[in-house]
Amino acid sequence: MNDTVKYVLEESRMPKAWYNLQADLPTPLPPVLHPGTHQPVGPDDLAPLFPMELILQEVSTEREIDIPEPVRDVYRQWRPAPLYRARRLEKLLQTPARIYYKYEGVSPAGSHKPNTAVPQAFYNQQAGVKKLVTETGAGQWGSSLAFAGALFGIDVQVFMVRVSYDQKPYRRALMETYGARCIASPSTETQSGRGILAQRPDHPGSLGIAISEAVEVAAGRDDTKYALGSVLNHVLLHQTVIGQEALLQLEMADDYPDVIVGCTGGGSNFAGIAFPFIGAQLRGGRKVDVIAVEPAACPSLTRGPYAYDFGDTAHLTPLTKMHTLGSTFTPPGFHAGGLRYHGMAPMVSHLKELGLITAVAHHQTKCFDAGVMFARAEGILPAPEANHAVKGAIDEAIRCREEGTSRAILFNLCGHGHFDMQAYIDYFGGKLQDLEYDEGELAMALAGLPSVGAPA
Ligand SMILES: *Cc1c(COP(=O)(O)O)cnc(C)c1O
Repeated sequence: MNDTVKYVLEESRMPKAWYNLQADLPTPLPPVLHPGTHQPVGPDDLAPLFPMELILQEVSTEREIDIPEPVRDVYRQWRPAPLYRARRLEKLLQTPARIYYKYEGVSPAGSHKPNTAVPQAFYNQQAGVKKLVTETGAGQWGSSLAFAGALFGIDVQVFMVRVSYDQKPYRRALMETYGARCIASPSTETQSGRGILAQRPDHPGSLGIAISEAVEVAAGRDDTKYALGSVLNHVLLHQTVIGQEALLQLEMADDYPDVIVGCTGGGSNFAGIAFPFIGAQLRGGRKVDVIAVEPAACPSLTRGPYAYDFGDTAHLTPLTKMHTLGSTFTPPGFHAGGLRYHGMAPMVSHLKELGLITAVAHHQTKCFDAGVMFARAEGILPAPEANHAVKGAIDEAIRCREEGTSRAILFNLCGHGHFDMQAYIDYFGGKLQDLEYDEGELAMALAGLPSVGAPA
């Protein structure tokens, strides 16, 4: 049998609608609350930050939401994305498991992020918005929005977490190539940034701080809106093209996953691969084991309580119920910058509470061990974030070998690591440390959770 097994969908079978899991949830999501009044927010409360189309998607319970033709036109540049059977990895592991991976590194920015950057830029352009402001961790989201902004004629300004800004100068150069302006966060350009720098001039930054800076700039100007690359329902919605394509590709393989694995930072690529399968299960289809893999240094799903919290450090965002490490928590500077967020998507958190998914946390050196093994077998060099999913999938395949069971494992290879070679250099140089988060700081951040009673 051939070792290279690739499932290519015809362009005509690219999804025409995004799949909305809210239509199939057994219990609805808890409401989003106003940061001041703690009352449920309405669409108008969010209008300063987002165009109405995206706000309506955020609260929609329609099962299918049409993908506009101009968005599909851009998607066609790299979608449908390939699904591979990892036969060489299976052989190396001597596992009876069937391992499949969906590869999202084929997009121009090198990850799944353009799946949502493109529709977000499109809906903003339709609403007459001239400028989008955002945050970025490792720079994947910033470069994706910069790419989408260039296509739709929107100026993009990106607050990049300081530690990543220093670690990953090539991502910054990519954003600038697409025409975006990239600023290290915390910065002196906003009140939130200046406040943080006054307390600690060498602050390494966090996604929570960068979000505060971006929201502050966007809220202050009429022609400017904010864009978020993960966490929100509409972002997860846009990513469901991944899982919908994978369903069709596995049909071509005459197979169905027993296990689905994804890495989780804010939860969007995980949702993208898993939600269409979870939805099928909730509508009476086959049961799947769905595993979220997160970094042990920022373990929101496995260690964070399920509670109302802010999305940002300066408390400018609404309150959402999610697994959180506290909005003031600063994770240590490990290499998977895209996974350094204090909270988890409300939808993903809700699924964990309902027992529909499970979560595990791994340290980064073990994830790089897995990623390097994968690269040597399959040729593709994963992003440090994606190494967490690779680790989860390999662990499942080894379990199959030990138990003598043959299961089908599907994981999302959410991006390539070509801009993250410093992380690999550090790994090969033995310089990668397995960072523990500071227990004292975590306790302090959790003590600061807002007290919100059950809404009436
Ligand atoms: C941003 C990013 C992540 C983390 O974000 P999610 O919303 O959890 O997907 C993971 N992997 C890559 C490659 C990313 O760019």
